Amino acid sequence: MFEEVEHRIGYTFKNKDLLKQAFTHISYARDAGIPHYETLEFLGDALLNFLIVDLLVESFPEKREGALASLKAYLISEEFFCELARELGLPEHILMSRGKKNVSIIGDVFEALWAAVYVDSGRDCNLVKELFTRLFKDRILETIRSRKVKRDYKTLLQEITQKRWRERPLYRVISVEGPEHARIFTVESSIRGMSAVGKGKSKKEAEQEAAKKLVEKLQKEDIQT
Ligand code: MN
Repeated sequence: MFEEVEHRIGYTFKNKDLLKQAFTHISYARDAGIPHYETLEFLGDALLNFLIVDLLVESFPEKREGALASLKAYLISEEFFCELARELGLPEHILMSRGKKNVSIIGDVFEALWAAVYVDSGRDCNLVKELFTRLFKDRILETIRSRKVKRDYKTLLQEITQKRWRERPLYRVISVEGPEHARIFTVESSIRGMSAVGKGKSKKEAEQEAAKKLVEKLQKEDIQT
């Protein structure tokens, strides 16, 4: 059943249980008494973060850190991982007893799968990088070129919240301080009871910062429905 996954990613597991674990949601694990993907996801999160940053720095050595950081924000988002997972046909293999295979869970499984490859290969970073690059480098560069990657966080945040809940985030100026020539704006961004605060020399700048922080928050939280 998982042979198809192995075929798609171009890697054959020595330990098939590890592969299965990457696809095992906690709800299924409890019923079946087998391990779930949580720890692998934790490792995979860090691993993919590294692979994406490495790929960005390698591909765009002339770009400033700020520009790379906003590209990264999208490329490591669960939305993007979910998209890649769908292209590989991963969602149908996820083992769950309850709940829906939502963007968050599909993204988690994508992370867990790469951690599983890493562990199974004897922690061979080079091999994982090779497989990942072969599968996704062109895809990622194309995504960047086609400007699907939104360089500003307000757009990115809205894209995420629209996709997840069909709602737009709200912005609210909390305070304006300092003398006229050196104003500090404080803005709060919020969606569905979650919020983040940003500061800046203009309202626009503060909104960007608030959006960035909320994007990061949304990417970290796990909705285990
Ligand atoms: Mn995750």
